[in-house]
Amino acid sequence: MAARGGWREKISVRFPGAKFDEPLSRHTTFHIGGPADCYLEIGNCADLQDFAALAAGQKLPVFFLGQGSNLLVLDRGIRGAVVRLRGRFEDMELLAGAKVRAGAGLRVPKLASFCAQKGLAGLEPLIGVPGTVGGALVMNAGTPDGEIGPWTAEVEIWDEKGRAPRVLPRAELRFGYRSSNLSGRIVLGCVLQLKPGDKVDIMKRVQGYQRRRFQTQPIHTYNVGSVFKNPPGRFVARIVEEAGLKGRALGGARVSPKHANFIENFSGATAKDVLELIELIRGEVRRIFAIELELEVKVVGEA
Ligand SMILES: Cc1cc2nc3c(=O)[nH]c(=O)nc-3n(C[C@H](O)[C@H](O)[C@H](O)COP(=O)(O)OP(=O)(O)OC[C@H]3O[C@@H](n4cnc5c(N)ncnc54)[C@H](O)[C@@H]3O)c2cc1C
Repeated sequence: MAARGGWREKISVRFPGAKFDEPLSRHTTFHIGGPADCYLEIGNCADLQDFAALAAGQKLPVFFLGQGSNLLVLDRGIRGAVVRLRGRFEDMELLAGAKVRAGAGLRVPKLASFCAQKGLAGLEPLIGVPGTVGGALVMNAGTPDGEIGPWTAEVEIWDEKGRAPRVLPRAELRFGYRSSNLSGRIVLGCVLQLKPGDKVDIMKRVQGYQRRRFQTQPIHTYNVGSVFKNPPGRFVARIVEEAGLKGRALGGARVSPKHANFIENFSGATAKDVLELIELIRGEVRRIFAIELELEVKVVGEA
């Protein structure tokens, strides 16, 4: 319910679709996460501009979320507003010269199959990344067969000072292993420079990557993909398996019996369960292999 006179009322008047005290478990693929003070979906730049002005005026912290497929939201949730870009931000468009413009709210599998159908190669390895374009750019999502970063020609961000969209050209973009210099910015979309190719070959690669995922990943469970980054030259899944932790459960969370770098919420897990399981894995891997595991999943909110 919107309290009278405060920022909640101001938001509910201008954005009637906003939800208050919204459980973020409804917006993460883990199905875990306490409430956001306010959750709203914004569908175009004019609304974003109004919202940004309102949030700045009220000194309201704002967190931008995509599909919530790389997030562990803690049990007391997120203070302030959580925003998801939808509507016009889910558009995609074929441009001349093997380029595609994609909005930050667009789902990556939809973009990857669009490119494949247009005979544009590059994004095939991303076919099974269940996030949005915004999340993929922030995370430099991908697999050992390819990431989104190298195909990114420019990124449109929301310039908080100028209160308007601004384009970051390729020269200003930095992509690393599951990281980029877009973290902490508001990503509105991008232009990808892809490679023209044979449509049948591209589709075959897409199907091959999909098949491999079905075989090796527990994609029908509540999870966030790889929990840890692979240390140089090693695979976390193998390390965790060798540590004897495959299938280990703690509360409602367990190391996936199918892929040991995945944690599944198999029975009403809390974020606390997942964090404790993460610490158990880290401790055992440190003790047995003297390897320090680094998180790939982003932990946000209040415990
Ligand atoms: C079954 C499964 C398989 C997976 N496989 C892979 C894989 O092969 N490779 C891989 O890299 N990842 C994989 N992931 C993890 C995840 O899908 C990716 O990290 C994805 O890019 C996250 O996108 P998202 O939209 O869900 O972002 P979220 O999880 O919602 O957010 C991730 C980060 O991006 C930020 N963010 C999101 N949108 C915006 C925006 N518009 N502006 C500013 N910041 C934004 C968030 O604030 C947060 O910091 C997998 C996950 C699952 C569940």
